[in-house]
Amino acid sequence: MKNIAFDRVKFAFDIERFFICMSQPLPFDLTSDTNPTNAMSLHDFSIVETTLREGEQFCKARFSSSDKVEIAKALDSFGVEYIELTSPRVSIYSRKDCHQIAELGLKSKVLTHIRCNLEDAKVAVDTGVDGINIVIGTSDLLRYFSHGKSIEEIIEIASKVLGFIRQANPRIELRFSTEDSFRSSLSDLLRVYLEIDRLGLVDRFGIADTVGIATPSQVFELVKILRQTTQKDIEFHGHNDTGCAIANSYTALEAGATHINTTVLGIGERNGITPLEGLVARLYVLNPEAIERKYALGSLGSICKLVADKVGVEIPFDRCIVGSASFSHKAGIHTKAVLKNSRTYEIIAPEDFGLERTMLIDHPLTGKYAISHRCHQLGLNLSPDKLVVATQKIKDLAYTRQISLEGIDRILVEFSQS
Ligand SMILES: [Zn+2]
Repeated sequence: MKNIAFDRVKFAFDIERFFICMSQPLPFDLTSDTNPTNAMSLHDFSIVETTLREGEQFCKARFSSSDKVEIAKALDSFGVEYIELTSPRVSIYSRKDCHQIAELGLKSKVLTHIRCNLEDAKVAVDTGVDGINIVIGTSDLLRYFSHGKSIEEIIEIASKVLGFIRQANPRIELRFSTEDSFRSSLSDLLRVYLEIDRLGLVDRFGIADTVGIATPSQVFELVKILRQTTQKDIEFHGHNDTGCAIANSYTALEAGATHINTTVLGIGERNGITPLEGLVARLYVLNPEAIERKYALGSLGSICKLVADKVGVEIPFDRCIVGSASFSHKAGIHTKAVLKNSRTYEIIAPEDFGLERTMLIDHPLTGKYAISHRCHQLGLNLSPDKLVVATQKIKDLAYTRQISLEGIDRILVEFSQS
């Protein structure tokens, strides 16, 4: 099994050797760490939202046509730039769904995702979608055990398919991606991308960490070289098998990627891909105002709830932004500081997402500032001495048994009247 080496020296050596073999000059300075495109990518990127393609491959997903329309409209209102749909070749239902969603008149561009073959392409161009995402495996494993094609055959069939689509619809947006890019050899990848690039048919290239094996530094190197070599827009698709999907997507943008694949709650094959809410959180902290201008952040929670309900799961408590624990503060040292200035322990403002923070006081870690805040909410005025005693009483009680907020309120009322 081959992995792209993330050793920079070896990486540079491999690339140099590749271009010598191809009798081509190196198109950029391999030793340079700077990437003229990355500053733009972090602000001027597009989300390719694939809940209705990758997400449909989640083990618990079974979307009806009306579910798909509802989800597509919600994603469109949120403001994602692209919505990707399951291939119309999968069934008569997915074909109908492609037609129906393409005709909704959404602001988001509608894409469908197909294998690299003419039969898929013929059906896809007929659906009225704005763009077609084509994928084909280039790793040894996928070439031997999936489609059985050599690298030469991949280039040949891709050229035919891309040429057919471009001729059938000159205005359609075309993306060509390798699959399992990070277990493909670097020279195979570069051969495929450069040959396809020479045809001048595609709008952007895709890189897919199909099995979630890539590290951020590997993603950075591959995106950077592809961006600099082809000057094309780059789309990144990252699986989350080792928990790196958000970091890898962010790093892809830093390296010059322009399009990132997400699904709501990260649903997809196995444990899924980059979650929409996670990517939004990651990019929000970089520039909250820019993300607020781009997306309707107040609807993120309801979109996650909608998709969670459709696939029959709870939103996990630790999900970025939308998890139930995301804005709850417990320890006395935290609540004290947050009550004075929320930025002390919050890098994301819940109110920007239409959410509220929670101050937990029904536990032994609580402190007098949090209790004082509760008194204030209840309109009670406790002296500093009473506040200390009341806090201690609540801590002692919470240590020995579960207490409710109502129980705490009763104690505070009693203290205020004593
Ligand atoms: Zn995938």
